[in-house]
Amino acid sequence: MSFSARNRNQYIKQLQSDQFDLLVIGGGITGAGIALDAVTRGLKVCLIEKADFASGTSSRSTKLIHGGLRYLKQLEFGIVREVGQERAILYKNAPHIVHPERMLLPIIEGGSLGKYSTSLGLYVYDRLAGVEKGERRNMLSKQETLAKEPLLNTDILKGGGMYVEYRSDDARLCIEVLKTAVDKGALCVNYVSFSSFTLDNNNKINGAVCLDILNKESLHINAKKVINACGPWVDELRKIDKSLTKKRLHLTKGIHIVVKKERIPIQQAVYFDVQDGRMIFAIPRGNKVYIGTTDTNYTGDVNYPFATKEDVEYTLHAANYMFPNQQLNIDDVESTWAGLRPLIHEDGKSPSDLSRKDEIFISDSNLISIAGGKLTGFRKMAERSVNVVCKQLKLEDQREFLPCSTANITLSGGHLQQTPLEFAKNLQEDFKQFYLDEILELVLKYGSNTQYILAMAQTNFNNNLLFAEADYCIEHELTNSIADFIIRRTGRLYFERPEMNKQLPSLSSFFQQQIQLTTEVDEMLAKQFDIEYQGVLSFK
Ligand SMILES: Cc1cc2nc3c(=O)[nH]c(=O)nc-3n(C[C@H](O)[C@H](O)[C@H](O)COP(=O)(O)OP(=O)(O)OC[C@H]3O[C@@H](n4cnc5c(N)ncnc54)[C@H](O)[C@@H]3O)c2cc1C
Repeated sequence: MSFSARNRNQYIKQLQSDQFDLLVIGGGITGAGIALDAVTRGLKVCLIEKADFASGTSSRSTKLIHGGLRYLKQLEFGIVREVGQERAILYKNAPHIVHPERMLLPIIEGGSLGKYSTSLGLYVYDRLAGVEKGERRNMLSKQETLAKEPLLNTDILKGGGMYVEYRSDDARLCIEVLKTAVDKGALCVNYVSFSSFTLDNNNKINGAVCLDILNKESLHINAKKVINACGPWVDELRKIDKSLTKKRLHLTKGIHIVVKKERIPIQQAVYFDVQDGRMIFAIPRGNKVYIGTTDTNYTGDVNYPFATKEDVEYTLHAANYMFPNQQLNIDDVESTWAGLRPLIHEDGKSPSDLSRKDEIFISDSNLISIAGGKLTGFRKMAERSVNVVCKQLKLEDQREFLPCSTANITLSGGHLQQTPLEFAKNLQEDFKQFYLDEILELVLKYGSNTQYILAMAQTNFNNNLLFAEADYCIEHELTNSIADFIIRRTGRLYFERPEMNKQLPSLSSFFQQQIQLTTEVDEMLAKQFDIEYQGVLSFK
């Protein structure tokens, strides 16, 4: 099946005409994982997303495939083991967007961990998470730590530990999972918003009424089972289903700031203590560094969480304490993003103490809702949710389904068979007109699919890589607007905000030419883009 914005009307027709085994509501990483798992077990699956894929929390995380170190502090050994295994699987299946990153953990006076507890903690973590020998922890003296990272605060530094985290791109991971699901036969459509459930004679859900936002038309989807994978919106659907119980979501907000690397030229990623007992990351990405995150209760508009001045000042203050010679200030912040953790409420617990465990709720009308969890654990969350669906379907119509096989499915773009750099070098042999850096940048987003972009640039776009990239996203990643492209497919709004401004007018007219929308819808999307575009600097 194709995944082209130019064929979207055809997908809408199919959503209405087909009978599905499973409708997944929500196109973040949780829904994407479920669609892939279900279609590869033999179910007929569709997925709808009310805005763009990954536009919720799944483009607003710290972008790490965690080994689960922080869970060790909370003594959640089961999670540490599971996410450690998941990390290894993801690295194997999506080597273009999951990269090992050496992380320095400074040990400081009055910090949350001492030398021995850090050493022991990292040792236990390595064993539980199944960390490979070459990536196991390495404890450092104060001098060794400073040699690794001279910018650290020497007054409070006592030593350090090095361990390995895996860096990723959350929104790209989500889209690669969706592309793989679509390739296997799932029908996944963005800008289709769920409105209400339809029920059979036994008051069990048998479909949904939805709104196609780009055509402003209502549609009905027939599905035997429905999974609510709406992340921070999970309870909205449970309310509509009248099944919201005391077990409800607890949303907490986390923000990140992006600054030029020249303002904080750290040599590797650092995971450091904040004076209030929390810990935050500073992670280099290209010529920028992003720093975060916060963890505060959130009761505002779920659709538009933004960083406040207070959030940004907290983060700057934390960074300036650990890297005192840099003295970052609010004018150094080029952009921000804010995300909402869809955690499960526990009475009396503070945001940072709430468990990150996922949980499945099944209502009387058989709405299957999945909440909590992490980007890292999405594959196991999907397996557990689809197990529920297969069990129910088997009881009803005696069908047999294949077992979960997603641990062995290479994601779209993941067919590299060598390192991303080697892959880029090989591509350059055929496309000598492009710089290696330009090709590598694309390989780190699109992996083995990069060759299509380079070929298109050469044949149709007079070697203009940006337009060839946009065209690829329209044709193969259901990208409907400049916002989808700049925010979710490429992360440019967050990491290249000042640089991309001059490209906006030409890109905007390119999208207008390629995607035929009514003026009204075009204006609506432009307005939404403006809110997000202004939102990254809303703290100013
Ligand atoms: C600040 C922060 C940092 C994090 N860092 C990490 C990290 O480094 N590593 C990690 O593993 N995890 C991390 N997480 C957790 C991780 O990001 C989330 O667990 C994960 O992204 C949640 O994905 P989801 O698909 O459940 O929700 P979402 O990504 O929010 O997806 C839900 C989707 O449902 C859609 N939807 C809602 N209502 C409707 C409707 N009516 N009709 C159709 N669609 C609808 C929404 O538009 C949305 O796209 C972090 C979270 C935060 C907030």
